Amino acid sequence: MIKLLSTDFDGTLINHGQKPPVVPELFVMLKELRAQGVHWAVNTGRTLWHLDEGLKKEFRFPIEPDFAIVEERDVFRRANDGGWEPFGDWNGQAARDHAEMFHLAEPLLAEVLAFLERLIGANAIHDHGRFIGAVTTTDADMDRLCVFLDKLRARLPLFSYQRNTIYVRFCHINYSKGTALGELASKLGIAREQVFAAGDHHNDLAMLDGRFAGFVMCPSNSCEEVKLTVRTAGGYLANGVASAGVVEAMRHFGLWKAGI
Ligand SMILES: [Mg+2]
Repeated sequence: MIKLLSTDFDGTLINHGQKPPVVPELFVMLKELRAQGVHWAVNTGRTLWHLDEGLKKEFRFPIEPDFAIVEERDVFRRANDGGWEPFGDWNGQAARDHAEMFHLAEPLLAEVLAFLERLIGANAIHDHGRFIGAVTTTDADMDRLCVFLDKLRARLPLFSYQRNTIYVRFCHINYSKGTALGELASKLGIAREQVFAAGDHHNDLAMLDGRFAGFVMCPSNSCEEVKLTVRTAGGYLANGVASAGVVEAMRHFGLWKAGI
């Protein structure tokens, strides 16, 4: 019935500041489902390196995902040597599309830098010399920045962004956790109705609106926009925090019945 799980990482699997940060039942569930042939993808804003750090060192997962969708865009699969390899030509196309978008957006990004200077404590984020995003000190400041970015988008529809709490990453309009998930499912020959997606924040909205996953959920710690999107899509709003909520949702949908 279910063939692919797409789970955000921070705030959805990981309950930061809680011990343990992941409920043991989640690992039992993932192991059982994978033994049944279900694929598991972590779909995160983290970089691939940062995700590996989280899985192996920071939170010591006893099980590793089959796929990693990172930076809300790039799709990797587990390689035979235990590392990661790009899955198909999606990442290459994404890189080309982003190079074009960043070139076209240069005048807009100059305005974003000027706007950031007016937000106390806000910082631009650069990667390999490219201005790729920003961080603010408060949610309210990020709200203001996103309103400004929305105005800029009207001038360049290719230009979009992914927000996660007080962080924002600029992106090409065609790339999100949702479209990357859709690409992965398509390549695997998995239908939307066989996909489960779980997330808690703005950058998860694109995979929670029902377009790419038939089963969508959010844990109780999710932001209001996510809760509204999941509710609108006919998904499940869990009572549990992070991974406890994910397990609860899987039971709610009848996708996992066993227990410890
Ligand atoms: Mg999250």
